[in-house]
Amino acid sequence: MKTSHHTADNIAVYMYHHISDQPDSLSVTARRFEQQIRGLASDGYTSLGAEDFAAFMRGEPMPKKSVLITFDDGYLDNWVYAHPVLQRYGFKAVLFTITGLIGDGPVRPHAGQGKALPALYSHKESKQRMFGPEPDSVMLRWEEIHEMLKAGTFEIHSHTHTHKRWDTLCSSVEEKTQRLHDDLLASRDTLNRRLGRASGHLCWPQGYFDADYQRVANTLGFDHLYTTDAYGQNKPGQNISHIYRFAVRNRSDGWLRRRTWLASHPTFGPLYNNWKRRPA
Ligand SMILES: [Zn+2]
Repeated sequence: MKTSHHTADNIAVYMYHHISDQPDSLSVTARRFEQQIRGLASDGYTSLGAEDFAAFMRGEPMPKKSVLITFDDGYLDNWVYAHPVLQRYGFKAVLFTITGLIGDGPVRPHAGQGKALPALYSHKESKQRMFGPEPDSVMLRWEEIHEMLKAGTFEIHSHTHTHKRWDTLCSSVEEKTQRLHDDLLASRDTLNRRLGRASGHLCWPQGYFDADYQRVANTLGFDHLYTTDAYGQNKPGQNISHIYRFAVRNRSDGWLRRRTWLASHPTFGPLYNNWKRRPA
């Protein structure tokens, strides 16, 4: 039987967007990403899936060195660069996809196959393309997602269907909640239709949520809600409508090791988080 000494006290949740060779605040280079994953692997870390994480939040024990790796949006570069690295080290990540922007077509090459790779774009250009006429040039295809699922490198969960900020686009609470409801329902239906299942794990576009948002999500069966709030620990019994995540930067595996240690330390973690959250 496991003792509490061998059980994680809390679990750090990472947030990535792009793995690409155009580093910016939302992009980590392929070389850095490999360093980071290799570092976690050699330190004895395990990457959990969403079900494991949910079980942990319900009170089930998980290995002391557990992390939950998440990606937002569903970019093509996740297939090109992140998938082969996760596969090499036996790691998995949770991908929150904007289900309405995922296309169809043949599987494109990924790194390590010795083939010419598809063109990849900066986050800024990706944003213009994904919400413009060419989402397919920067976003994943369902065929690539099937390959990721088969390999066990990525799980697919919802990041809404449109990524729209209904709170800023609607003039009344009724309209906002109706549009969000339709958006989440479309995402859930798309996942069910394309993958045969949708989960209760949802990540908010741009990290925005309010009490109306949470209520709408809950009525559609989304109970694990992922924020962009970095400064808090995910502990058993805590509010699963407010899961903390921190962004992984284009920095060394040593930086990630220290950041993870600090985030999950039972004493220093809360001290650090309180200090970061202090009023300016
Ligand atoms: Zn997003």
